[in-house]
Amino acid sequence: MNFDLNKEQCAWREKVRDFAEKEVKPLARYNDENQHFDTELTLKMGRVGLLGMTVPKDYGGLGLDNLSYIIAVEELARVDGSTAATIAADNSLGIGPIKDYGTEEQKRKYLPQLCKDRLWGFGLTESDAGSDSRGTKTTATPIGDQWVLEGEKIFITNSATPITLGTTVQAVSGMKDGKLEFTALLVENGMEGFEQTPMDDKMMWRASNTGKLVFNKVRLSHEHILGAVGEGSHLMLATLDAGRLSIAAMGLGCAQGAYEMALDYSKQRVQFGKPVSKFQAVAFKLADMAVQIDAARGLLYKACWLKDQGRSYGKEAAMAKLYCSEVAATVCDNAVQVMGGHGLLKAYDMERFYRDQRILQIGEGTSEILRLVISRAIGC
Ligand SMILES: Cc1cc2nc3c(=O)[nH]c(=O)nc-3n(C[C@H](O)[C@H](O)[C@H](O)COP(=O)(O)OP(=O)(O)OC[C@H]3O[C@@H](n4cnc5c(N)ncnc54)[C@H](O)[C@@H]3O)c2cc1C
Repeated sequence: MNFDLNKEQCAWREKVRDFAEKEVKPLARYNDENQHFDTELTLKMGRVGLLGMTVPKDYGGLGLDNLSYIIAVEELARVDGSTAATIAADNSLGIGPIKDYGTEEQKRKYLPQLCKDRLWGFGLTESDAGSDSRGTKTTATPIGDQWVLEGEKIFITNSATPITLGTTVQAVSGMKDGKLEFTALLVENGMEGFEQTPMDDKMMWRASNTGKLVFNKVRLSHEHILGAVGEGSHLMLATLDAGRLSIAAMGLGCAQGAYEMALDYSKQRVQFGKPVSKFQAVAFKLADMAVQIDAARGLLYKACWLKDQGRSYGKEAAMAKLYCSEVAATVCDNAVQVMGGHGLLKAYDMERFYRDQRILQIGEGTSEILRLVISRAIGC
């Protein structure tokens, strides 16, 4: 067994950490306060290869393995949840399905732009379809040689930015054996009848773009169908399996950043004549954080390794997402405690980390749904 990252993965971590420290961290508080989706920063991230990391070089990506991608998300989340969310949602949910299920023509059309300077969304959630995606009401109706799309989506990350190219949308396309049949469609921003509105005033990820989408008789041709007609649900749910690794990486990075902040603060803050890190009650909190973070990293990297080996990883991805997001919650809570009142001030980044971790137990499978997935996988 070898627990070391290889030379390329180590160099990649260093490169992303350097970028995160120099380019992301200085802007994070301002962007959060102002709910500012930072187009310039996103374009800069495109220039260092953070868009389309696992896309083969042939289509304009870096051709990295999944673990390297996860390391990049972890490093971004170590300084800012919103920026990590933009990159993770784009790579796994936006680009992922086109890379994995697109025709050669679709890949040539979209991937080079998406690896450079455009974003793509993943449109599953609706008002009546959250955890239960079979509650989808958006419809795709075949009329002549076209499909007509009608309905609405909510909570779609990256779908309403100035550089969004489009969104993959799940729609009901008919019935088979008495059951609803779903199809995934590639819907481009700018198409007639397609509207995107930012959903503002979130508690967390305030600098990440979240959109409401309306499809008012949007006309699509057969080239806009991703995968086969009727295969949409399978394709969207398989994408979420991979997406769970990204959310886990955000939890791990968030916990790491919060822990480092608390450790640093505890060594500088003097009470009763000594640094608070010297009080056992504080030191033990920090020790627990270190243990939880290491365990979370082990679980996540193992799931990535399985994926990189081409082995089944659904159960492990669910475990990693569940555990890393809960570790992020515990670590952030204890990190605030270690920092006392200062941890609650907006002048310290800890307050933002405390808010940003909260989504991680909800997005891409709530903790309750993940426990359901894991309990089924272990034969309950
Ligand atoms: C900032 C943000 C970004 C997002 N980005 C995207 C995106 O890019 N694309 C996208 O499609 N969606 C996105 N989402 C939606 C997200 O995936 C959903 O919020 C999530 O799937 C949960 O759905 P829901 O909010 O409707 O909760 P619900 O499904 O209504 O759940 C409510 C509660 O009931 C519980 N529950 C539901 N069913 C069960 C069950 N069978 N057993 C036990 N408990 C259950 C849940 O765990 C939860 O506690 C985003 C959400 C947010 C907030």
